[in-house]
Amino acid sequence: MIEVNGKKILLDCGMFQGRRKDTEEKNKTFGFDPKEIDAVILSHAHIDHSGCLPLLVKQGYKGPIYSTFATRDLCNFMLMDSAFIQQKNAEYMNKRLKRKNKNAQEVEPLYDGEDAQKALCQFYGIGYETAFVVSEGVVCSFYNAGHILGSALIHLLIKDSETGETYRFAFTGDLGRKNLPILKDPTPMPPTEYLIIESTYGNRFHESMTDAGAKLKEIVNRVAERGGKIIVPAFSVERTQEMIYHLNVLWQNKEIPDIPVFVDSPLSVNISEVFINHPECYDKHVYEQFIANRKNPFGFGRLQYTHSVDDSKALNAINGPAIIISSSGMCENGRILHHLKNNVEDERNLILIVGFMAKHTLGRKLVEKQPVVKIFDEEYKLNAEVEVMNAFSGHADRSDLLEYINRIKDLKKVFLVHGEESQSISLQEYLKETGVENVVIPYRGDTVEVFDKKPEKQK
Ligand SMILES: [Zn+2]
Repeated sequence: MIEVNGKKILLDCGMFQGRRKDTEEKNKTFGFDPKEIDAVILSHAHIDHSGCLPLLVKQGYKGPIYSTFATRDLCNFMLMDSAFIQQKNAEYMNKRLKRKNKNAQEVEPLYDGEDAQKALCQFYGIGYETAFVVSEGVVCSFYNAGHILGSALIHLLIKDSETGETYRFAFTGDLGRKNLPILKDPTPMPPTEYLIIESTYGNRFHESMTDAGAKLKEIVNRVAERGGKIIVPAFSVERTQEMIYHLNVLWQNKEIPDIPVFVDSPLSVNISEVFINHPECYDKHVYEQFIANRKNPFGFGRLQYTHSVDDSKALNAINGPAIIISSSGMCENGRILHHLKNNVEDERNLILIVGFMAKHTLGRKLVEKQPVVKIFDEEYKLNAEVEVMNAFSGHADRSDLLEYINRIKDLKKVFLVHGEESQSISLQEYLKETGVENVVIPYRGDTVEVFDKKPEKQK
């Protein structure tokens, strides 16, 4: 939350993901009164950035939620899906509680579909690089962040109403990478004095995207030959479409065997439709390879989208090699759990990890190759092979972050957020080495005076 000229503006309103008991309290309490917020600016549709918007509205927020058009369209599906998950989780918890104690008080879902619908009615779509007024003295522009479809860097031109002084303040949301399939590269940040930037991979390097196709080809051929299945837990937005896009190219070039590919997630099916409707976000490769030839980048001969639960269950009966892409990305809920349950114990199979896995999630346990994993409260031996492909990450890595920050003109102060502590601290050190001295790592609940000329007035 930033406070400017007496107005309160939220930059994103995400949901914490991780261990249930840690996250529930954090998600429930904002630390401020939602009724006092004047505007929300949303960087992108991922649930860890948008997921608490329905709760904000449930607790009385009535103002605008500004985002790009593609983010608004993605949120249409993602917030409704999130509400559904909240309700399912609450039902599950209540069943467990009642089993232990008949008189136990029922837990309420964080929010329901109606709250999500209300939040969706408060969205305003704005195009990239189109300045708009957020509140008195605050003008915002979105620039392409290259992270997921519709993702935006938020750049604010702020004029102090008392002194008339102006300064520029920016928030990256999640910063993407160059050469990601489908998306345009991140736009360089216009000059800015104060920057809030993510640090998810502040101390790690990704594999290059150009090797991703070759590695995927090798994996598919290897596993198909031994008759195994490839299970891909993937976020419904972006990673799923990138996987489809790569498999599509490999299949067209006859570089992988002719095995069936399933996208088993009702959300992914809808999200792929949103992708088709937002060609303004595509890079020139997608245009040249697909759009110019009137081909669909998100559909090909062996690809099937699975809608119903029965179709999803039928995938268990498939004998022989297949690729199943399903959500959720961190394996915390959704149909992926059934596919993992049915496939982790067979050593011919392979679990392909293509996204970030938060601490304590089942996805992280798979990445760590723990010998036994718990799925639906039952223990399973992890006999399947696990491969991690960082190339698919939609986040800038350490060198991308350093390069991006070093190119920003007039920079005075950098705030590192949205990363595990070790990642933020490393990035802070590397930034200092490159001459960016004023780097702050704020903690949850901290208040920081940004505009140092009038510290008693500004937050
Ligand atoms: Zn994100």
